[in-house]
Amino acid sequence: MIAPEFWSIPEGSLNVAPLTQKTATLKNRLLDITARFSDVRFATSLAAEDMVITDAISKSKANIQLFTLATGRLHQETVDMTKTTENHYGMSITKVYPEESDIQEFIDQFGMNGFYDGEVAKKACCGARKIKPLNAALLGADAWITGQRREQSTTRVELNFEELDDARSIAKFNPLFDWSEADLWAYIKEENVPIHPLHLKGYPSIGCEPCTRQVKKGEDIRAGRWWWLQSDSKECGLHLNK
Ligand code: SF4
Repeated sequence: MIAPEFWSIPEGSLNVAPLTQKTATLKNRLLDITARFSDVRFATSLAAEDMVITDAISKSKANIQLFTLATGRLHQETVDMTKTTENHYGMSITKVYPEESDIQEFIDQFGMNGFYDGEVAKKACCGARKIKPLNAALLGADAWITGQRREQSTTRVELNFEELDDARSIAKFNPLFDWSEADLWAYIKEENVPIHPLHLKGYPSIGCEPCTRQVKKGEDIRAGRWWWLQSDSKECGLHLNK
């Protein structure tokens, strides 16, 4: 039983007509992407947004390859959720691992949990465990998809459906950019989408175990990510386009 002071999944009443329209738009967005690009990949964290996209990929039969960044610092619940999702949808999710030499280099310079010491070390850790593996996972792709939403944080308010990922010279799509938190959970309820167990324990956002914690009611939903840093540092660099 989750303590009452923590964030919990919004109950809200289900407004079916707008949701049906949003669901159809989401599937059309995915099919539009695959009609325009031949090698489309989707990076899933197994969090609610990414589960909605996974569900829509499965139901629309859009030709999109799924992968996840197996950083080596994930909660066991996230590792288990990958298997749950594969079993539920009969899909395979490629696990992309960091290079051991990059991890050793980080540990030698900063220590295993050196990211707590500040922005420089945090960037170095995310670089080794997330950014470099992401770059490797996207090699050869001509487009990729994320579960980002405008509402999630102050750093995402200008998000659009389609962007150019200059850093990788490929297209990048955010098919949930205009979804609210209520839309998200209404879809999950309506379509019986598997829920990451940490969402039931006060975590609205899922990341690496040492850098993610529960969020109190009324706090920003990304407040539990890198909580020791300023709010404008609450990104791991995966979504820097330049
Ligand atoms: S989220 Fe934390 S543990 Fe994960 S890669 Fe970034 S700094 Fe490292």
